[in-house]
Amino acid sequence: MAYDYITRAQWGATRPTTSRPIAKNLKGVALHYMGFHIGGDTTRLIRSIQRTHMAPPRGWWDLAYNELVDLDGTVFEGRGFLSRTGANGSYRTNRDYIAIGLMIGDDQAPSEAMIEATRSRIAVVRNFKPKATAIVGHSDLKATSCPGPHVRALLDSGAFEGTFASPPPLSTSPAAPYERPWWTLRIGRRGDGVKWLQWQLQRRAYKVTVDGIFGPKTRRHLKKYQRVVGLVPDGIAGPKTIKALGA
Ligand SMILES: [Zn+2]
Repeated sequence: MAYDYITRAQWGATRPTTSRPIAKNLKGVALHYMGFHIGGDTTRLIRSIQRTHMAPPRGWWDLAYNELVDLDGTVFEGRGFLSRTGANGSYRTNRDYIAIGLMIGDDQAPSEAMIEATRSRIAVVRNFKPKATAIVGHSDLKATSCPGPHVRALLDSGAFEGTFASPPPLSTSPAAPYERPWWTLRIGRRGDGVKWLQWQLQRRAYKVTVDGIFGPKTRRHLKKYQRVVGLVPDGIAGPKTIKALGA
C-alpha cells in the first residue's frame, strides 16, 4: 500500500538536540494519540508539537514520537524508527518500544487509511527487528488515558496486526546528494548516488550501510525492496526503482 511519507525536512522540523538508540532487543511498537481534536494543517501542527516538546518545562531532545500518522494516512517522520522515543513514559519503555503517534483526539476514530498506514509502518519495524512483535497502547506501559478509546478498542480487536507483507513506504522525499548518471545504480558503482540509494533503504529500516559503495549487501537489500514493492527484483536501481524510493 502506498502512502505519503513526509520527511523531517518536508515538514520543517527543528534538529534534535541529541538522540539515543533503541534497544537491541526491541519489544515492539507502542501506539499513542494526541488527546485533543485534530483538524486543519497537520504539518503546521506537527511543527507546533515539536516546539512544545522541546521547550521548557519539557525540554526534550526532539518531538517525542518516532513517527506520526494522520487521518489521511500520511506518515510523518518523527525521531525515526532507530532513535529512542520520549513518548512512552520511562527510560525502559522508551528504549524498548518505538512510539507511533496517531493524530486524533477522543472524539475521532482512526480512519481506514490511518490504520493501514500504521500497520504498514509496523511492518517496516518488523522487517528491521523480526522479534519486535509487540503492539501495545501507551496505557499498557503506564497509567494514562492514551491512546484513547478508539485506538484501545482497535488494539483489543487486533486491528493493527493484519498481514505483514506490506511494502515499505513510497517516499516523496529525496533531499540527498545525487551524482550523474544517478538513474542506473548497480553493483560496483560508487558515489553520492549510491549513498542516496542506501539512505533511502536504511530510512525504511533495512540494514544497509551508507558507504557509497554498491556491494553485494546493498544489492541483496535492494532486491528485497524491489520484490516487496512489486518491481523486477534485479538488484539494479533504474528509473522505476529510484522513483519508487523517493526521487
Ligand atoms: Zn501517549
